[in-house]
Amino acid sequence: MDTPRRTHRPLSGAALEGVAAESILTWAFERFERVAIVASFQAESVVLMDMACRIRPHVDVITLDTGRLPQETHDLIDVLRRRLPLRLRVVSPDPDELEAMVAEHGVNLFHRSPELRRHCCDVRKARPLARALEGYGAWVTGLRREQSESRAGTPVVALDRAHGGIVKIAPLATWNRERVREYLETHDLPQHALYRRGYTSIGCAPCTRATRPGEDERAGRWWWEIGAVKECGLHAAENTHAGGPAVAAPGAIA
Ligand code: SF4
Repeated sequence: MDTPRRTHRPLSGAALEGVAAESILTWAFERFERVAIVASFQAESVVLMDMACRIRPHVDVITLDTGRLPQETHDLIDVLRRRLPLRLRVVSPDPDELEAMVAEHGVNLFHRSPELRRHCCDVRKARPLARALEGYGAWVTGLRREQSESRAGTPVVALDRAHGGIVKIAPLATWNRERVREYLETHDLPQHALYRRGYTSIGCAPCTRATRPGEDERAGRWWWEIGAVKECGLHAAENTHAGGPAVAAPGAIA
């Protein structure tokens, strides 16, 4: 893990609650030598990549190519890598782990049980992300509190124990969908094509459907798992706090 830099604008994690997203990103780039934006190429990550490139061109971006992404996600990746000065790393699952999983459980294991679904997310997403984040001091995610009940307590800044205690930053935690949409329109940024087909959250093709009016934004993810938490393991439970906004101990990240 890299060591935090001294900054001429000291801010604690607590002080970042309520701060503009641009200022949070600026703080992160000043505070840590190595910062990665982890992008799913949903609307929030497009906002973050654009914002970050205005502050620091050639920002590190990690995206997880699970092998099951919709074609529309690959199309958008191509568009944005031409449009923005990104240092994009497309991370794939470990081929041996993938082969072993498919040999034992089949390629569509996620429909058979929640445990097998989580195993698939682990092999295709969580383990590749953990490997990709090695050596980073902080990572940036597009999580928003409004997206689902399980994200309602998303801290703006937290220590991410699941990834070796590096810092996890959610600059858009307090944003709503409308604000994301406004940012994209104001900056004339491309949007994922599946939003036009009623999707409100987009992941792997076989595990995502469009949502209906009144449903949670993430209701279309693993929709067959009734009552399950709609997460894939990238965002460990200890990083969210249902009781409201929370941040890591200021002394740890100030
Ligand atoms: S979202 Fe579905 S296909 Fe993608 S990694 Fe998770 S279970 Fe596997």
